[in-house]
Amino acid sequence: MHDLETDGHRARKRFGQNFLSDPNIIRKIIDGIRPQPGELMVEIGPGLGAMTVPLIERLGHLHVVEIDRDLIERLHERYTPAQITVHEGDALKFDFGSLCAGGEQPLRIVGNLPYNISTPILFHLAGFADKVKDMTFMLQKEVVMRMVAEPGTEEYGRLSVMLQYRFRMGRLFDVPPGAFRPAPKVMSSIVRMAPLPKEQLGAKDETLLGRIVTAAFGQRRKTLKNTLREFMDDADFQAVGIDPGLRGEKLSVEQYVAIANHCSARGGDAR
Ligand code: SAM
Repeated sequence: MHDLETDGHRARKRFGQNFLSDPNIIRKIIDGIRPQPGELMVEIGPGLGAMTVPLIERLGHLHVVEIDRDLIERLHERYTPAQITVHEGDALKFDFGSLCAGGEQPLRIVGNLPYNISTPILFHLAGFADKVKDMTFMLQKEVVMRMVAEPGTEEYGRLSVMLQYRFRMGRLFDVPPGAFRPAPKVMSSIVRMAPLPKEQLGAKDETLLGRIVTAAFGQRRKTLKNTLREFMDDADFQAVGIDPGLRGEKLSVEQYVAIANHCSARGGDAR
């Protein structure tokens, strides 16, 4: 299959390139972000500049992280260093905290994210939450539904628990395939994520929380008694007041935190 040519650039599937081309949708996204002059902002995957252009207009200066060298060349041709700082490379490996070095200003992160790396990039970005003011992303609608899912629903899983533990999240609006070139096969949505205050997080050991949540959703059809065997016995379940006969999808974020804190308070996570 041939990649589609857009504005003289051949869209590369391996980089998840679907370029926004609907001016109304672009305006709506930018209005949702509300960029203010002088804010510290980074865009992941600027591509052909659909969002980059209006962002620079409003901010004055923008950082971007882009992996595709051809697109980077275009950005350098179009903008001066006073307007744009281009970080060439893989956003999955990029140290977003380095953009805040020496300053107090919190970082805003935005992007129409490459769909082929959506889950790993969300986990990577969660690691910089303490330096971030907010993040606004376009992702597949299916992923956004999983991010904001409530306990007890089919979409609720590891992604929901680990992101809702750290961020307040809201789905802003949907974007149809026709707003892009080439058009993707699926519907997209815009999601906003704002880090919760540190004192609200509550898990004493976040690595342990992550391991427990991964285990609980590893085999969705099994009960917690089975999936959390390594961490909890009947007495432990009784102590936290959670029925071991439930499946992982029934527990709230707070209940996962309670399990993790019980395990760390008991000393040693494994049974
Ligand atoms: N922002 C543009 C728009 O809205 O039209 C492009 C969006 S396109 C869905 C994703 C962009 O992310 C492309 O420019 C692509 O080259 C870039 N990209 C893909 N993988 C990347 C990665 N690992 N790190 C940084 N950029 C990446």
